[in-house]
Amino acid sequence: MIRVQDIKLDLNEDIAMLPVKIAKKLKIKTADILSYMIFKEAIDARKKDDIKLVYTVDVETTKDEKLLAKFPNLKHASAQYICPPKGDKVMNHSPVVVGSGPSGLFAALMLAQQGFKPILLERGVAVDERVNDIERFWKEGKLDPKSNVQFGEGGAGTFSDGKLTTQIKNKRCHKVLEEFVIAGAPENILYKNKPHVGTDILRDVVKNIRQTIIELGGTYRFNSQVTNIFVENNKVCGVEVNGNERIDTEHCIMAIGHSARDTFEMLYNAKVHMEQKPFSMGMRVEHLQDWVNEAQYGKFKDNEKLGAAEYKLVHHCENGRTVYSFCMCPGGYVIASGSEEGSLVTNGMSEHAVMGKMLIVLS
Ligand SMILES: Cc1cc2nc3c(=O)[nH]c(=O)nc-3n(C[C@H](O)[C@H](O)[C@H](O)COP(=O)(O)OP(=O)(O)OC[C@H]3O[C@@H](n4cnc5c(N)ncnc54)[C@H](O)[C@@H]3O)c2cc1C
Repeated sequence: MIRVQDIKLDLNEDIAMLPVKIAKKLKIKTADILSYMIFKEAIDARKKDDIKLVYTVDVETTKDEKLLAKFPNLKHASAQYICPPKGDKVMNHSPVVVGSGPSGLFAALMLAQQGFKPILLERGVAVDERVNDIERFWKEGKLDPKSNVQFGEGGAGTFSDGKLTTQIKNKRCHKVLEEFVIAGAPENILYKNKPHVGTDILRDVVKNIRQTIIELGGTYRFNSQVTNIFVENNKVCGVEVNGNERIDTEHCIMAIGHSARDTFEMLYNAKVHMEQKPFSMGMRVEHLQDWVNEAQYGKFKDNEKLGAAEYKLVHHCENGRTVYSFCMCPGGYVIASGSEEGSLVTNGMSEHAVMGKMLIVLS
């Protein structure tokens, strides 16, 4: 399998033209292509009159080795992420994962896939029940501190834009996307330059991942807030749930996000090592989506293949600081996202079909 970059399609060309273009680029016949898979799709809109879709494709041909020797820029398609091998020490108790947000969910899934039968503890409720609590909050303003946009199945990510960009290169990223697809996300997130799932699809994805973890022998417990952590000889030996139950464990992953102030305080009092993290100050800008589409795509602004346009701005100040647009939420809306009485939190959320009117930029 070889990775071929920079295969370009005009907007009026069908995706079925890809093998023809690949063959042309590699100077082989289409019959020599055994299989191919899109690795990345991006839009080149630098020339507004000649916008292209640009593909990186993993191709298996009858002549892989010959082609690799002929074109020095060609490389083998890089191998997929493989979990590190398991240790050989027998664990006395199941590992405990605290929090069912993106971090906890994937930690529990990886442990379950390796046969460790994790116990996942979540202070909030399952996603369907959570949807009702949040809709009540948005309609009537009544906050449930246990079940809200931050707390509950899927964590803060469930009611979000579901943008899956990390801006890092790491094989684990593809593994995460693959698991999303297995759990029901659209397959194109595997290769889109800016993959986006949307809150509507995410709600089913988190339920399906929960189902997989349970089928693999894991345990899921909602309404289960970790209220204390037990440490002996400088090692974790258990956690307390809801102030009245102890679960013994030697391995505890605290995937509690950044909103559970009570839990941070509990961990601090229990002398768990913590480090402050720098944070950025931001503001939110809203534009009409149509303006950005026109600015980026000119006469092709309504072309379905291009979808909602985005942009990125960066300015390096003389004092060494940088101001930058952080992320965009095309077709999204701003939602109240608080988890504590008396505080105000907002964020952007969108559905999978993002061709809405407004584009929100978090700067
Ligand atoms: C409205 C909104 C939109 C967003 N949009 C995007 C986006 O489009 N793309 C993106 O990349 N990021 C987005 N984010 C940020 C993203 O959601 C977070 O970065 C991500 O959820 C962090 O994941 P996490 O698993 O670390 O924590 P969280 O998702 O915060 O999950 C932590 C979980 O731990 C549980 N918990 C906390 N304390 C305890 C305890 N003591 N016991 C048991 N359970 C506990 C909580 O109930 C929660 O479910 C958005 C956030 C919000 C609020």
